Amino acid sequence: KLITFEGGEGSGKSTQARQLAERLGAANISTIVTREPGGAPLAEKIRDLVLSDRPAAAVTELLLFAAARAEHIAVTIAPALGAGTWVVCDRYIDSSRVYQGDIGGIDKAFIRAIEQQTVTPWFPDLTLVLDVGAKVGMERAQARGGLTRFDAASLAQHEQVRQGFLDLAMAEKDRCVVLNGAEPEAEVAEAVWKAVTERLIA
Ligand code: C5P
Repeated sequence: KLITFEGGEGSGKSTQARQLAERLGAANISTIVTREPGGAPLAEKIRDLVLSDRPAAAVTELLLFAAARAEHIAVTIAPALGAGTWVVCDRYIDSSRVYQGDIGGIDKAFIRAIEQQTVTPWFPDLTLVLDVGAKVGMERAQARGGLTRFDAASLAQHEQVRQGFLDLAMAEKDRCVVLNGAEPEAEVAEAVWKAVTERLIA
């Protein structure tokens, strides 16, 4: 199974992804945890290129993130899933839909067309959207060393990202579950586990 975590910066994705992978492992389900952009050597190089600099044109970012994802799938995700290993991924297609689509203004049909050619058939079985208020997310991201991409003052942009993920989850209810990421870490982890067991294990 492929499980993805999505949400804005400071929503707790990385922490929860790690904890879920540990818990699956403890339940004797072979699991790897990985992240986007990255998760394969060339994809990590693309990550460094894109994230170390000022934001590039939205279409440039779309294509670079898509290239990184294609490589991530080819080298890491598809082989793992093919071997029966579960994959927990920190960000995936929905980040492109929200950051390059909602924020960057790229045509959604173009984004979907790229997905069809680069992601198929490796769509997530379950996507956990960690939802936190824009202010909480910004403060958490700042506390761990600053926001990587956005102007630190851009609360409005954070709110737009949050809304983008919520809209997406609503539109794809079969695949997505929204969880309150503002709760204490252990409680979010319980909610994650409940969603995973109910949807994929029970
Ligand atoms: O918090 P994380 O390490 O996942 O941050 C990665 C950065 O890459 C975020 O700032 C996010 O805004 C950006 N990103 C993006 N488009 C994607 C994936 C990530 O702009 N498709």
